Amino acid sequence: MKKICLTFFCLMFINNSYAFTLSNSAAAAFAGDRVTIDVASHNCSNIGMSNQQLLDAANEAAEQYWNDVPTSRLRLAKGGLRSVSSLFQTDVICVSGTDCTPTPALVVSSGILISCNNNSGNFSSGGVLSVTVPNSITGRIINGALILINDRSDNQFQNKSHAEQVSILAHEIGHAIGLGHSAVEDSLMYYRSISTRRALGQDDIDGVSYLYPTEQPIKGCGSIALIDSSDENGINNNKKIWHQHGANKKREEVSPFPQKNTAAILAIMIGMAIPYLLSKCLKISKKYLKYNFN
Ligand SMILES: [Zn+2]
Repeated sequence: MKKICLTFFCLMFINNSYAFTLSNSAAAAFAGDRVTIDVASHNCSNIGMSNQQLLDAANEAAEQYWNDVPTSRLRLAKGGLRSVSSLFQTDVICVSGTDCTPTPALVVSSGILISCNNNSGNFSSGGVLSVTVPNSITGRIINGALILINDRSDNQFQNKSHAEQVSILAHEIGHAIGLGHSAVEDSLMYYRSISTRRALGQDDIDGVSYLYPTEQPIKGCGSIALIDSSDENGINNNKKIWHQHGANKKREEVSPFPQKNTAAILAIMIGMAIPYLLSKCLKISKKYLKYNFN
């Protein structure tokens, strides 16, 4: 019985805690399901790839990492080359001396913009690969975000493999959509393992699902069934609602009542067992205290 009690209390204290953080205190995220990624049209001097190649790599990052999370509604779309001020190449991303007040000239009004940049305030060395700020936020809505890639002559971005560059872009896109760094090493958003990640970790999935939860969660049970083509309206299938999927006679059944539900039965059994276990454990605790402290 003691073992059961210990297990029971251990289970009570197991906590599915999250380690992801958010890139801003407002917990802001893009409002729509679809966010476009553009690349500034000016030429980069030192990153070793053209604007179009940078756009292709960013799209690869979106597809390989962020667009494949079933519990996230976010879909990143490939945009194009956007003509912007040359200040995006040379200016600092945050007003110096502030806790990152966005530089007004670099505010991105919509979507995600990637630009190369050589400002020493952004890149103190060639080892700083990139900086990202969601720099247009209204309340809890991100309107636009800016990703700057280090374009100094000594930048280390140019020396990375293509897979590493895609991974770095995916990490920066993570910041752009509202995520901060994760404390979990097995995450794309962990600050040190960027180059070696090839997929999202569970903490990244938790983070993007928190900011961009899918809508219309499934409630109750559902199943797919084939019905006779002569029964188009489900007349002979009383008390069932049918929704047609195209013209192939496949139907989705939505029963008004839940059917066999193993999870529900288990939940009821556990619920009935909890009062019994609690009373037993309290008795054992009392005996233990009496034995040790009397
Ligand atoms: Zn980062």
